Amino acid sequence: ERQRLARLRHTPSVTLDGQKIELLANIEQPDDAAAAVHAGAVGVGLFRSEFLFMGREGKLPGEEEQFAAYKAAVDGMQGLPVTIRTVDVGADKPLDKKSSKDASLNPALGLRAIRWSLAEPAMFRTQLRAILRAAAFGRVHLLFPMVSHLHEVHSIVAQVKLAQAELDARGAAYGMVQLGAMIEIPAAAIMVRSLLKHFDFVSIGTNDLIQYTLAIDRADEAVAHLYDPLHPAVLGLVAQVIEAANDMGKQVCVCGEMAGDAGMTRLLLGLGLRSFSMHPAQILSVKQEVLRADTRKLQPWAQQVLCADAPAAMLEDVGK
Ligand code: PEP
Ligand code: MG
Repeated sequence: ERQRLARLRHTPSVTLDGQKIELLANIEQPDDAAAAVHAGAVGVGLFRSEFLFMGREGKLPGEEEQFAAYKAAVDGMQGLPVTIRTVDVGADKPLDKKSSKDASLNPALGLRAIRWSLAEPAMFRTQLRAILRAAAFGRVHLLFPMVSHLHEVHSIVAQVKLAQAELDARGAAYGMVQLGAMIEIPAAAIMVRSLLKHFDFVSIGTNDLIQYTLAIDRADEAVAHLYDPLHPAVLGLVAQVIEAANDMGKQVCVCGEMAGDAGMTRLLLGLGLRSFSMHPAQILSVKQEVLRADTRKLQPWAQQVLCADAPAAMLEDVGK
């Protein structure tokens, strides 16, 4: 089976009805770019930059160290686009094992991700400058985690402009980047049309979207049986975001675990998704589903799944 899948590595990812589907890789370190290219990814859809920040006893990476890491990822992808997400620490990804940030009562609802970046603008701009400089060497997209307020969007844009001005003042080379928001808080999914007016693209983080929609801690074993990607409320939000982005002519990707689950591929295609980002090891099995899919048939079926009381049962047999 693995050998058969390996033969698909260089097969273009196109459905039976001719829809081109973008299969991207999620990476945690610049070195992972090699595995991404090897698996046939056409780019990096999510570089989780927080892994450069974690386990350093509070000593954060400086601009040069970050620049070297982002440039290494860009170089490693050999001209393919790289989406770099700004630091997303907190909750399940603490800076350190016993960092003071973990002391908050509800870390998943606390000062994490973009909230932390905006609370520490000097640190945020250090990261932005490093990413903008790496963008001089290839195609880079900038992705912001856990956006949920429009005033955060305005602050983000202001900080990006300031970072560019700082590089200009120094005469440093940098590249243009597209700006995108992670949609992983229900509020962001519900108001995605407002967010899309300000961003070039969105990426749906289903791991957190499920956690926050269902109020299920994604890392708590005691409630793991209730963590359900096929919950009708979750599917409704995912569908709404894909539809809004397609409507407005903006790029939309899913970069949570859902994108790498081959059992979900047909449903996501039926909902109109054309871009998936996942662990490199999952790319070929998802591609196999894409090659067998006919989106014209999947679309009406996906609408039925959205309205079903038990969507999981429908995924088993229909649509094949
Ligand atoms: C997500 O929340 O789905 C996601 C892709 O981000 P992370 O898993 O890093 O929180
Ligand atoms: Mg997330």
